[in-house]
Amino acid sequence: MKVAIIAHDGKKAEMVRFLSNYHDILKQENISLIATGTTGSHVEAGGLKVERVASGPMGGDAQIAARITEGKIHVVFFFRDPLDKHPHEPDVLMLMRICDVHNIPLATNPATAELILKGLSDS
Ligand code: PGA
Repeated sequence: MKVAIIAHDGKKAEMVRFLSNYHDILKQENISLIATGTTGSHVEAGGLKVERVASGPMGGDAQIAARITEGKIHVVFFFRDPLDKHPHEPDVLMLMRICDVHNIPLATNPATAELILKGLSDS
């Protein structure tokens, strides 16, 4: 089970806090993490092992989308900042579309991510 982690700048601290509340689940052997570049460095600093791709604005969201298309990512946590502008908005929309194309659970806020993680820990 591979979980992709992405957070816009205004949401990175919230993502790290959220993940730290669920270390027990996320450290399970059958779960691995992949993240966009800057988000990944924050997640690592928070004590979790994570594979990093490029930074989002440099194509990282597109890399995550490609991995989903290849069947290599199974869940996406993408904490978007709805109050800020993003130069890579087309990539953001593309990633969300690809999640829907491939029926991949996509959490864009902590409340939804929590429900997904509880589902993972029950399965
Ligand atoms: P970042 O990219 O983790 O490299 O900041 C996230 C994004 O903005 O899509």
